[in-house]
Amino acid sequence: MKIKDILRGEGIHISFEVFPPKTEDSYDAVLEAAGEIASLQPAFMSVTYGAGGGTSRNTVRIATRIEEDFQVPSLAHLTCVSSTREEVRQVIASLRERGIENILALRGDIPEDVTFPLPHHYRYASELIEDIRREGDFCIGAACYPEGHVEAATQKEDILHLKHKVDCGVDFLTTQMFFDNSILYSFLYRIREAGITVPVLPGIMPVTNAKQMKRICALSGTVLPQRFRAILDLFGDHPAAMEQAGIAYAVDQIIDLIANGIQDIHIYSMNRPRTARAIMDGLSEVIKA
Ligand code: FAD
Repeated sequence: MKIKDILRGEGIHISFEVFPPKTEDSYDAVLEAAGEIASLQPAFMSVTYGAGGGTSRNTVRIATRIEEDFQVPSLAHLTCVSSTREEVRQVIASLRERGIENILALRGDIPEDVTFPLPHHYRYASELIEDIRREGDFCIGAACYPEGHVEAATQKEDILHLKHKVDCGVDFLTTQMFFDNSILYSFLYRIREAGITVPVLPGIMPVTNAKQMKRICALSGTVLPQRFRAILDLFGDHPAAMEQAGIAYAVDQIIDLIANGIQDIHIYSMNRPRTARAIMDGLSEVIKA
């Protein structure tokens, strides 16, 4: 089923994310985690794509199994910066053959030590979106950045590029993680003013590993509010306490989003069924109200 049709439905839509195995050895473990997350009956599940394109086959395989074995609609991520246009075309063809209807079209991070863009490669996600549109009847999602993408000189410029990307054929957007909901609300105001009308799924990251999070935030430029830094400082070296506090923070963020009228929320569940389940438990009555 196409995600744009799911999002048109009544009620709250919660989606989860898994990443594909990097090696064949971990394939079964990833599938098992995906199965446990699927049993929580999310609106859909997304499957990330390896930065260098190396795990593309596993993205397609896991996305297919989520649909066929667990009967949950899947969203296959697809990055284009490290692959030739022909390689990308082949991945799109294999998604089409397997009946995957939803693609999250991404550029991917620019690899180090290359002259960008490489010959016969893509430069921006908008170019990939145009190609996917030509290749079949897909529902296409794309990324957006409430705090601005790291490469963009200003947020205004980033939103202009986002508008162009959406006009190339995007059906919905998923945001980069953020830890302060007021950043999301002002971003939504600005993109609506810029004429971007497609559904936007805020991306919520339940932080259960403090060290990893500090590194990711430094790379992506995500702001850590004081309230969240206090949690990392106090519980960062106590894994069980960090897990509990990180999940509570995420649930709190989601409840605030729902209370402010947001119906569609994506959770970066990162192959952790226990985290996904704890979040759904924390929302059990809220999503019924
Ligand atoms: P684009 O939309 O192409 O934007 C990249 C930069 O180029 C921005 O600064 C933008 O302002 C600028 N730009 C765009 N168009 C133009 C133009 N016409 N002229 C000048 N500048 C322009 N990475 C992975 O490797 N695998 C994943 O599975 C993955 N999943 C993700 C999921 C989500 C929800 C998000 C938010 C990110 C994800 N990423 C993933 C990371 C993403 O690949 C990087 O953030 C990447 O650097 C940008 O990708 P994009 O599709 O947003 O790029």
